[in-house]
Amino acid sequence: MSDPQADYRCIIHIDADAFFASVEQRDNPGLRGKPVIIGNPHSRGVVSTCSYEARVYGVRSAMPASQAYRLCPHGIFIKPRMERYKQVSDAMFDIFDKYSPVIEKVSIDEAYIDVTGEDGVGIAESIRRDIKRELGITASAGVSYCKFLAKLASHSCKPDGLRHIMKEEARDFLDSLPVSRLPGIGPKTQSKLDALGISTIGALSKMPEAWFVRVFGKAAKRFQDMARGIDNEPVTPWREPKSISEENTFDDDIDSMDCLQGQLAVLAQNVAFRLRKSRLKCRTVGVKIRYHNFSTITREHTLSEAVSSDAEIFHRAKALLEAAAPDKPVRLLGIVAKGLVPARSRQASLFEFHESPWDRVSRSMDELRMKYGKPVVLLGPCLKSRASDGKEEGTG
Ligand SMILES: [Mg+2]
Repeated sequence: MSDPQADYRCIIHIDADAFFASVEQRDNPGLRGKPVIIGNPHSRGVVSTCSYEARVYGVRSAMPASQAYRLCPHGIFIKPRMERYKQVSDAMFDIFDKYSPVIEKVSIDEAYIDVTGEDGVGIAESIRRDIKRELGITASAGVSYCKFLAKLASHSCKPDGLRHIMKEEARDFLDSLPVSRLPGIGPKTQSKLDALGISTIGALSKMPEAWFVRVFGKAAKRFQDMARGIDNEPVTPWREPKSISEENTFDDDIDSMDCLQGQLAVLAQNVAFRLRKSRLKCRTVGVKIRYHNFSTITREHTLSEAVSSDAEIFHRAKALLEAAAPDKPVRLLGIVAKGLVPARSRQASLFEFHESPWDRVSRSMDELRMKYGKPVVLLGPCLKSRASDGKEEGTG
């Protein structure tokens, strides 16, 4: 082992089970015990998540939604409610925060937590208990001395499980697993290894160094190490975002300016809400327009004062959209907020917090949105957007 610190590290990988589907089943008891599939079966999209009841039929995440429909036509297909899932995710990360400052966010429902020097299994059990009690969903946890084994451990005990892989049992655990379980081995590499007669990680670990170089090139050392249970990757704590963006691919291309402005208003409200929730403001607002032929343009504008209200972000984005004057049907529209600064800058006065009228409006709207789990007060143009369009975002 090259890094002596790796000898005593303790890392938890925690991953909510069938996250989006579990949130839906939690929010709506009528869905419990039923095959719930997050995705639109009549769209070009894929399944974001599905409940364990749907997995029995062979439905999987990232599968085309139309295929999921053929496998499980009686499944309950639900349009993703990203804002709701983000709320539950934030609450879950708040729980992690109580246990360690070293948290790496992998996705909306998945994180590595470094708890070196502490009782990793005890902490993982406490986190799982808090999630179940406070959020009403389950999460599985893997505990080990390195990241990839912690992740393999949590996946091997899903759903609602906890597994600890100690150093002395790592090789036994790895040896029988298929090579496809190593992170970074895609279907292409897997079939290449199959052709060479190497199907398990144990068989892989016995290959000589020169062979790894031939097969994996630059990544040879990484794969050779992993096959032998070595992984010194640190848990890299989550940092403040550099930008906050939202975009929407439409089911049908849009060529009406009214409709585009309506879509833009919805995006602006979401971006602004996320800014405020992170206690940030932005100096730069940008828009992204992708036409039906996939050509894409972006435009941005930097303001003299940082903003975070729905109205201010929408007005800036709308001006950019109008100036861009889209002349072809639009497939995708997006808004990005950049140049992020903390919202509560007290530079003006130590005793006075400057709050603009728009900030006050936003604060009231946010209170309502948090209470009801969705935007309650809408910008006027939102009403012109078409309710059938939904964003798609995946989770494991
Ligand atoms: Mg998950």
